[in-house]
Amino acid sequence: CGIVGYVGGQNALDVVITGLKRLEYRGYDSAGVALLADGGLAAAKKAGKLANLEKALADRPLPTGTTGIGHTRWATHGAPNDANAHPHLDNAGRVAVVHNGIIENFAELRAELTDRGHELLSETDTEVVSHLLAEAYSSAGDLAEAMRQVSRRLDGAFTLVAVSADAPDVVVAARRNSPLVVGVGDGENFLASDVAAFIAYTRDAIELGQDQVVELRRDAVTITDFDGNPGTFREYHVDWDA
Ligand code: GLU
Repeated sequence: CGIVGYVGGQNALDVVITGLKRLEYRGYDSAGVALLADGGLAAAKKAGKLANLEKALADRPLPTGTTGIGHTRWATHGAPNDANAHPHLDNAGRVAVVHNGIIENFAELRAELTDRGHELLSETDTEVVSHLLAEAYSSAGDLAEAMRQVSRRLDGAFTLVAVSADAPDVVVAARRNSPLVVGVGDGENFLASDVAAFIAYTRDAIELGQDQVVELRRDAVTITDFDGNPGTFREYHVDWDA
């Protein structure tokens, strides 16, 4: 329901939690984060309010990193419990995905993945994406290209945001019939389902078009369509008070 992504020089967990708090008004039943740190991926997720996640993080702190993603969930497929909360990881624990919306063809994708030996650990429609993305990344070697390949296979409405431990300082996202905005900073960039999430840090924003993938680095934002052609998008300045 709420999505935040960050890459830059700040503590990513602080930026992501701050952003999720700004999106709390939308309502949600679970929350989670994933960070790239120490060459690996660290994640935490909890059913209930953000305070539950913050307590879990206080009890078992994650390593500090400067690249991260976060999510507040409004369950559509699978009960609102810890296992179904986002992020969802691949079986190797190298790729993490958060998602707003519904993947309509998840059942057939799930059956396909199970046949190939993947073990799915949640009841969500979302989890297929982390497995497909890990597979696509291992053959494509590029996370944005992997996200394009996976997006072409999905039916439904989605905002997807993902990181891989093998692609440090990169966050990728995809959008179809679901909101996604980029916040452009100085040596840092943001992604969110709503500008309210990053307005404390930057007011320079980019609204993506439909069926686009964005690759976010500290100093670069690259936007393409699902086939890899340059995308058309709208840059604007947020001048209202959030
Ligand atoms: N369909 C996904 C789920 O149930 C995402 C829901 C959302 O938009 O928060 O986990």
